[in-house]
Amino acid sequence: MLVVMKANASEEQVRAVCQKIESFGYRAHSMPGATRTAIGITGNRGELEPGTFEELVGVQEVIRVSKPYKLVSRELKEDDTIIRFPDSDATIGGTEVAVIAGPCGVESREQAFAAGERVAKAGARFFRGGAYKPRTSPYAFQGLGELGLQILAEVRERFGLLIVTEAVDHESLALVDQYADVIQIGARNMQNFSLLKRAGRASKPVLLKRGMSATLEEFLMAAEYIMSEGNYNVVLCERGVRTFADHTRNTLDLSLVPAVQRLSHLPILVDPSHSTGKRNKVTPLSRAAVAVGADGLIIEVHPDPDNALSDGNQSLYPDQFDSLMVEVRQIAQVLGRSIADPVANPKARRHAGAAAD
Ligand code: PEP
Ligand code: MN
Repeated sequence: MLVVMKANASEEQVRAVCQKIESFGYRAHSMPGATRTAIGITGNRGELEPGTFEELVGVQEVIRVSKPYKLVSRELKEDDTIIRFPDSDATIGGTEVAVIAGPCGVESREQAFAAGERVAKAGARFFRGGAYKPRTSPYAFQGLGELGLQILAEVRERFGLLIVTEAVDHESLALVDQYADVIQIGARNMQNFSLLKRAGRASKPVLLKRGMSATLEEFLMAAEYIMSEGNYNVVLCERGVRTFADHTRNTLDLSLVPAVQRLSHLPILVDPSHSTGKRNKVTPLSRAAVAVGADGLIIEVHPDPDNALSDGNQSLYPDQFDSLMVEVRQIAQVLGRSIADPVANPKARRHAGAAAD
């Protein structure tokens, strides 16, 4: 159930409604919107009686949410969620299309710095790179662990990039929460409900990738798990699903983007790297993703893809990433959106709070 407050309701009135909800042992999720605040109620087993809340001061109406997901839904929050970051003007979900780029895995300081410098110069505001890699084979490169996170923190410091990196279990999630700016939950963990709940108690935004066989509803319910624990900064990401097609690693389901945008206020990104598995398809599908209205891209770029420890075949050469950025920037403009400009000297683009060299 959803309590919609009047446009002019005071913060005190919103607080009083939340307290009333909590006095029944339920959880109140207050979501301020552009025109009014809505308060989602979770934790109730059965149906609630709307009359209990309808008469409280400042309440406009009480609505039953028709979908199984509530906090994720546009019924609760009409306007798009925009994720913001301290000491940075980068956003995810606003008019700027967010670009997250970097290698599949952090392999060394030299590799991460070489990638960071190039993607920052090309205009990416976010850096990706796994320190914990969920690999099909236990014998494949598993990531550098905490050392990888330390290198990522240095990349942030050096190039002013915000860090997106994956957590694979509770232990790594606590560390990723400490070092990174966005916690990635990978496709293989999309229905790891205990990990989703843990991410819901983290302090950083969560980038949730669609499971490789997940329906739209399953995907949104996974996001609901995170939000139900109180973390409302969730970003969704389409990364391809398994089909019979074998010309690509997965099949990129671009129709998911408008489908999500219809039902949910959360930003939705596209990963053209894992969805295709092939370098030559990354740029065309990045163009398509921006054209379809994605709020951002997450792209693998490696300074030396031929010797990458993971996902070399789908990683772009830095020069290819430069061209991709030029192209998607033009497409974004047609849609009234933008992509950050190239930066001649990314070392100068430090976080506002960071000390100068
Ligand atoms: C990744 O982005 O590094 C990754 C492992 O992706 P996915 O979970 O989509 O396979
Ligand atoms: Mn990868």
